[in-house]
Amino acid sequence: MKASSFHYKTLKEAPKDAELVSHKLMVRANMIKPLASGIYSWLPLGLKILNKVEEIIRKNMNEYGCLEVLMPMVQPKSLWDETGRSEMMGQELLGFSDRNDRKFYLGPTHEEVITDICRQELQSHKDLPKTFYQIQTKFRDEIRPRFGIMRGREFLMKDAYSFDIDENGMNKSYAAMKECYKKIFDEIGFDYKIVKADSGAIGGNMSEEFHVLANSGEDTLVFNEKDFSSNLELLEEDLKKQIEDKINNNDFSDIESKHGKLSIMKGIEVGHIFELGNKYSESMGLSVQYNNVQKILEMGCYGIGVSRIVAATIEQNHDDHGIIFPRSISPFDCSLISINENKSNKVKEKSLEIYNLLITNNIEVFYDDRDVSLGVKFSDANLMGNPYQIVISEGNIQENLIEVIDRRDQLKSKIKETELLGLF
Ligand code: ATP
Ligand code: MG
Repeated sequence: MKASSFHYKTLKEAPKDAELVSHKLMVRANMIKPLASGIYSWLPLGLKILNKVEEIIRKNMNEYGCLEVLMPMVQPKSLWDETGRSEMMGQELLGFSDRNDRKFYLGPTHEEVITDICRQELQSHKDLPKTFYQIQTKFRDEIRPRFGIMRGREFLMKDAYSFDIDENGMNKSYAAMKECYKKIFDEIGFDYKIVKADSGAIGGNMSEEFHVLANSGEDTLVFNEKDFSSNLELLEEDLKKQIEDKINNNDFSDIESKHGKLSIMKGIEVGHIFELGNKYSESMGLSVQYNNVQKILEMGCYGIGVSRIVAATIEQNHDDHGIIFPRSISPFDCSLISINENKSNKVKEKSLEIYNLLITNNIEVFYDDRDVSLGVKFSDANLMGNPYQIVISEGNIQENLIEVIDRRDQLKSKIKETELLGLF
């Protein structure tokens, strides 16, 4: 991609209301654009990243035998009345009526819809086990939308739902999803932890959350060295209070407890998996014929905050100059920066030659061919955060070398042109 044909209008200043680094950098780097409180458009650069996250998730879900579907975002209220969740979800549910006065909600999650599909589609134990998933926009009328797309009202989620004949099957489906989630978060390159969690409005018996470790995280996590890890929300009241007081004093040192010595960390919830049991299948009548009886199915549900992952990645990977994307989801594999190409034909020709070499080898390159100062080219490249910056200058051409800057440590090296493809 050439900068001259792309749309990349960076800003020097972050929006006044932005508190988190990821929010500031995403707006400055022209990735997202606010439309209303907690509602954002994804611009070309941002969408490239979001799509990469989506693809990693989709690939791994497919590898684990999950089947992709796409359910409607608009859901009839009558379905929510079957499970009694309209009241439980409360004001997060945004509802409206159609011209015939039928009531609908914008989907905040899809347990009801998938259960409705499955009570029509699954007839026999031979149809089981099954896990369906979708990657889709959700709407939750959050009390305090903030931090950019980290806590939006409209956001992209991957949600999956498993269906099994019995508890043993459900345990297996849950374990498989947990493994799949580890693959996904490893592939993205996160430093993350898995903790026991509160099931909240989704319900069920057992749930765990995946948290990206970052000081800006809204959740507090505690662990001992061996076998205990939990979201602070779940701890007994007095210990919880004790830890909250410590944190309020900015003290994150270990604490002794009946669970042993606990470390305290902040995390951003990027995934949440639940064993639901028969909470939805019972109230909505989802059963199949098995050994001459109708057997109520055992369900699990599994969410990933697809759009939140982009913000969480930036929280964990940035410096004073901008974003440092991991290879897995960086918008491009490298930036190509030509020095004074408008004054030097040699630089222009060499830059084009390298650009063509890279794209014919399927390496995604952002070639900054704009007529702007060198300072602007470098600061925009640092802001965008591609892993490498390849610099073409007269001096380097004379030496027959190419300069490469590693975005993470800013280390410069000079390599031969024949070594260039080996970087990727
Ligand atoms: P939170 O505690 O952050 O409000 P949640 O527990 O209500 O999230 P889940 O119902 O578990 O969310 O949804 C699955 C995933 O969707 C979460 O793990 C999170 O990554 C993402 N998510 C939830 N709410 C939002 C939001 N308002 N904006 C962006 N992503 C969200
Ligand atoms: Mg959750």
